Amino acid sequence: MDLLKYIREVPDFPKPGILFKDITTLLKDPAALDTAVRRLADPYRNEDVSVVAGIESRGFILGAAVARDLGAGFVPIRKSGKLPSQTASANYVLEYGTDSIEIHTDAVTPGQRVLLLDDLLATGGTMEAAVSLVKGLGGQIPGISFLIELTALDGRSRLKGENVTALVSC
Ligand code: AMP
Repeated sequence: MDLLKYIREVPDFPKPGILFKDITTLLKDPAALDTAVRRLADPYRNEDVSVVAGIESRGFILGAAVARDLGAGFVPIRKSGKLPSQTASANYVLEYGTDSIEIHTDAVTPGQRVLLLDDLLATGGTMEAAVSLVKGLGGQIPGISFLIELTALDGRSRLKGENVTALVSC
C-alpha cells in the first residue's frame, strides 16, 4: 500500500508558503491506519521497547497505537504548560523565536528503552529536543520513527547518531 496517496497536501496552512501534510485523510481510512501503525511497529517487535514517547499532538495518535501494537506503554511529550505533574523541559528553535516541550520527570526511568515517534520530520528541531528530554531522564533510544520525512529540510542532520526511520519521504 502506498501511504503517500492517503496524505493530503494543504497549501498555505497554517501560514502562507507552508505546504501542510494533513494525515487526517490517512487516519480515517481503516486499512491505511492499520498499515501505517504496523509498519511503524515492525522494526521494533524484538527490540524490548518499554514505552513509546509521542510528540503532541499527532504523535499521540500514532504513538499510542504503535505502543499498543508493541505491548509497550505510552508517554506524552507536550507543549509547555500542559503536563500536570513535575516536568523536565527542552527548548527548540523555530523560524522566529523558540518554543519548548516537556515530559513528566517520572515518565521514563533510567535504562528504559524508549521509541520516539512523531508524524513528520521537518527541520528536526522538535525531535532533537525530545531526544534530549528522554536522554536527560536516562532513557535509551533504540529508534526514532516518523510517518513522513520532508527530505529537503534535512532534519536527519539534527538527529545524528540516532536510528531514524520514516515510512514515506517527500
Ligand atoms: P520540525 O521540528 O521542524 O522537524 O517540525 C516537526 C513538527 O512540526 C512535527 O510535529 C510536525 O507535525 C510539524 N510540521 C512541520 N512541518 C509540517 C508540514 N509541512 N506539515 C505538517 N506538519 C508539519
